[in-house]
Parts: sequence; C-alpha cells; structure tokens
Amino acid sequence: MKALNGIHHISAITADAADNLAFYTGVMGLRLVKKTVNQDNPTVYHLFYADEQGTPGADLTFFEYPGLARGRAGGGMIHRIALRVGSERALDFWGKRLAGAGIDSTREEDRLRFEDPEGLGFELLAEPVVDQPLVAWHPEIPEQLALQGFAGVRAFTRRPQASDDFLHEALGFMHRSDAVYESRGDSRGSFYAYDQAPDVRALGGAGTVHHIAWSSTMEDHVEWRRRVIESGGDPTPVIDRFYFRSIYFREPSGVLFEIATVGPGFASDEPQEHLGEKLSLPPAVEHLRAQIEPGLRRLPNPRRPAEARPGAAAS
Ligand code: ZN
Repeated sequence: MKALNGIHHISAITADAADNLAFYTGVMGLRLVKKTVNQDNPTVYHLFYADEQGTPGADLTFFEYPGLARGRAGGGMIHRIALRVGSERALDFWGKRLAGAGIDSTREEDRLRFEDPEGLGFELLAEPVVDQPLVAWHPEIPEQLALQGFAGVRAFTRRPQASDDFLHEALGFMHRSDAVYESRGDSRGSFYAYDQAPDVRALGGAGTVHHIAWSSTMEDHVEWRRRVIESGGDPTPVIDRFYFRSIYFREPSGVLFEIATVGPGFASDEPQEHLGEKLSLPPAVEHLRAQIEPGLRRLPNPRRPAEARPGAAAS
C-alpha cells in the first residue's frame, strides 16, 4: 500500500461565483479546470481551479452559496492555506500584484500572508522542495513567479494531541515538529499543522474551508477506508464523484477530511485544452441539464481563445 500523496484538493465556500472566478483566475492566475455543480445540491456551482493540467496537489475548489454570510474559522476548521512559490523574488511579485488588486499582505521573510476578498486565509511560502511545481499559464504572470500548488494547511484545534494517534496510524502522516505533520507519498507531500483555536465559536460560511482531501491511488482507496474505520474513524461509503472517488470523515480534532483518488481526472468529460469552458454535469445529473443550467448565473470564460497558452491548439 502506498502512502497518501499529500493534498489532493481543498474545497472552500464562496458567496459569489463571479467575483470568486475573477479573483482566482484573474489575480491568482490559476486555471479554471472544471465548471460544474455541487453534486449534493446541483442548483449551485462547484468551481475547480488548478494548474494547467488540473493535477491533484494544486486543486482549489469552491462551492457557491449565493449571498451566504461570511463564516469564521474556529476549532476543527482549516484557517489558512499555504501555497508554494519558487523564490523570495516571487513573494515580492505577489505582494505588488495583490496590492494592485486591493489586497493587503504581510511579509515575513520566506512567506507572504493575506486573505482572499471573502476573508479566506492564505500564505505563500518560498521553501525549497523537490516536488514538481504545478503551474498554470497566465498572460501577466511569468512562469517562474507563478503559484506552484499546495504546501500545506493550518487548522485550529483546542486539543492538539487529540489527533496524533489517528494521523499516524490511520493516515500514515509523519511528525515534522510539534503540532506539524506531513503527508508524503511517491511524488508529492504537504504539511498539516495545528494552531490553538481562538475563543470565538467556529462558523461555516463564505470565505471558510469546507474540507481537505488527501490523495490516494485508485488501488488503495478501499484499503484507506478500512484503516480509517480500524483507527476509530467513521467514513462515508465510497462515493463516485466522477472525476475521482471519495470517502469523507472527521479527524479527531473535527476537521472534515476526504481521501480522493488520483483519477479518472478532469479530462474524462472534456478535452484538456478546453477544461472549464462549458458547464460539466456528472452523468448522475446530466439528465437535469435543462432545469439546472438556466438557474445558474452565466460566468465568463476566463480564458478567451486570444489568450490561449502559447503553443496550444487554436480553437
Ligand atoms: Zn472534496
């Protein structure tokens, strides 16, 4: 059985898909790799942003709940997402770029902290790692300065020790330092860190993380479910999300975890060069397209043909 290969994707909540799309593709320079609906509520969008190929490890997704009030991260929630960049020069670039979009940031040597327009916490880390950079193409962002995928996440907990055995035994996470763990597999790794929860009550809502998914091979997926149960977890049955298969459970500190398979991937229902351009509906809800599509606000295609990646086939 192979170790989990770090973060597969992170799913968060937005109150406004159009503004969210403008920020993550326009400012952050990620690629919209899938425009689909929430499979548990197909009347609302589920947007997936990632690197050029839509690779697990760079995949940040948002469920849209139009007009939803802002949430507040508390105990049992992830409060900050760390993304890798290639150098401290990239941090200079991002500080300026975010300021140009009206976003304040705080620089601390090898990292830059900021919040997205709905208050979701981020930090960019200029940390040497061997993992392949997962980069999207954007006309204003030189490749060597672009975001390179997830470094890890920070979660709030009141009992930092509560999850220790579970993270080691069920999931094979390694200890990096006090309250910092690492999930590292064949080709990638990510950190999972705890901070002391604030006294205020946690509140899900816009600008908060809904869950984090860890990356499994197709072959090992069912075995991971068995190990979660064996270690006292209470996972869902395997759910076919069409682009990957998933199980969900809460780790002892309360953070909602998912283990998702590497495949089949985002190119399973549309060609790689046109990812995210059309509304994709998984087979289970495709028959509802005539009802679903008119109810969703139209979103612009963030990648017009004139901006296609150099060398990509014209369309
Ligand atoms: Zn997920």
